[in-house]
Amino acid sequence: MSVALDHDRPELAAIREHMIIGGKPWTEGDGDAIPVYDPARGVVIAHQLEAGPRQVNEAVKAARHAFEAPAWRDMLPVARERLLLRLADLVEQHGDELARLETLNNGKLLALSQGLEVGAGAQWLRYMAGWATKISGETLNVSIPFPPGVNYHAYTRPEPVGVVAAIVPWNFPLLMAIWKIAPAVATGCTVVLKPAEETPLTAIRLAELALEAGFPPGVVNVITGRGEVTGAALVAHPDVDKIAFTGSTEVGKLIGRQAVDDMKRVSLELGGKSPVIILDDCDIDLAIQGAAGAIFFNQGQVCTAGSRLFVQKGIYDRVVAGLADIASGMKLGSGLDPDTQIGPMISARHQKRVLDYIAIGKQEGARMLAGGAADEGEGYFVRPTVFAHAPAGARISREEIFGPVVVAGAFDTEEDAIACANDTQFGLGASIWSNDLTRVNRLVPRIRAGTVWVNTHNMLDPHMPFGGYKQSGIGREHGHAAIDMYLEKKSVCMAYPAAH
Ligand code: NAP
Ligand code: MG
Repeated sequence: MSVALDHDRPELAAIREHMIIGGKPWTEGDGDAIPVYDPARGVVIAHQLEAGPRQVNEAVKAARHAFEAPAWRDMLPVARERLLLRLADLVEQHGDELARLETLNNGKLLALSQGLEVGAGAQWLRYMAGWATKISGETLNVSIPFPPGVNYHAYTRPEPVGVVAAIVPWNFPLLMAIWKIAPAVATGCTVVLKPAEETPLTAIRLAELALEAGFPPGVVNVITGRGEVTGAALVAHPDVDKIAFTGSTEVGKLIGRQAVDDMKRVSLELGGKSPVIILDDCDIDLAIQGAAGAIFFNQGQVCTAGSRLFVQKGIYDRVVAGLADIASGMKLGSGLDPDTQIGPMISARHQKRVLDYIAIGKQEGARMLAGGAADEGEGYFVRPTVFAHAPAGARISREEIFGPVVVAGAFDTEEDAIACANDTQFGLGASIWSNDLTRVNRLVPRIRAGTVWVNTHNMLDPHMPFGGYKQSGIGREHGHAAIDMYLEKKSVCMAYPAAH
């Protein structure tokens, strides 16, 4: 059972231990319930059910039923728009409860939960609401010559792809749920969402708010459980039309292979090892702050985290010393404490993984300038860590650590900077720090990444397509691109006699 906590706190009153299937709380799982933790204290705050094949089937059935029901199928686009706008309002009205719940469950700073999970979440809902009324096909001037005397009227009809299985990670739980649900329902799809097993709480609450907003039952379903059980059953379900996945490259590949077997539509937002390139003409203080923000934001648990830092010789020592100073001075603690700058890792397991990488970095011969293990009570803390002088091919420079660990290196020329930046299997994000537009314009086209920032890092907008080159994924979220991922294109070709 959940630990006894002060139930006046709005985030505690918002904890739900059920799933939402077909518009109703679903209280039966398969097997044992799974504990949900507060990572800042290492204590259990709730339990979640695990959906096995039977519950997954119920959820997919509910989504299919809702997809085909006239209440949803025939709903005017403007009515779908209104529902999304109402949901955005409700997310804001419940912002305090949702933000505190996210920080309790995920550990992130409360300001981030307020600004990103809730604030940006509402912004994304409103942006996608606007798309509901702006989906259009094309009239096609075709040249079909047969049979003589017949003309053709041809056009395309965008149609919702159907039942979407959405699987998301734990680093931005509410925001990622919205990134999947909003474009899916804007197009007229229905959704079964599986949040990460570490962070199911805000997703369940979001599904409740969707019902309150007036979404028909079964349009937004949330099922909980482990990836290898619930996620796998959802991916394998024959009545799922599309899988929208955000997570690790390893699991993304597994899902991609399975999707192809069934010809399910699939979009994959995967891992990264994003470079931060600092040129010697930059505003050095801004670049040092920027490099720190790029890696330590959200404890480095960010797919676009700037985990590889490349600084031009000449300013390298100053930048790296400045970064190590910032890292050493950061205050660790609970995300609910307004003085905290670095919260806990998501779980004991993930903390161990990050600390193992720090040990690997030392064994590989890299020099640790700041960071390492932390002893902040029972929580899963890791100090912001800066490595330099890693040998070529070091694992800490190549593998995604997904924690507050950056590896710094120096480069000489722009050509070297490009070679360093692109020397990775990933291609999600990159940033360039420079005040020389000529140099920036030379570099931008040569970086193999889905997003390149200049004098900033990690900034996203609902209108800006987002996704990966190389092993960082397939497809683009946000903007028009996101809408296209939830649509099929039907060609309609009508014959009529040319003359009366
Ligand atoms: P993960 O282990 O790949 O898990 C992601 C989601 O997939 C979770 O809900 C997980 O369930 C589920 N899952 C695991 N195995 C599965 C299977 N066999 N079948 C179906 N679903 C399965 O990733 P994570 O550790 O939660 O998140 C960190 C990763 O996400 C990093 O690699 C990061 O770069 C990536 N990420 C990418 C983006 C992006 O937009 N490109 C954004 C954020 C994060 P469980 O929770 O039970 O494991
Ligand atoms: Mg996981």
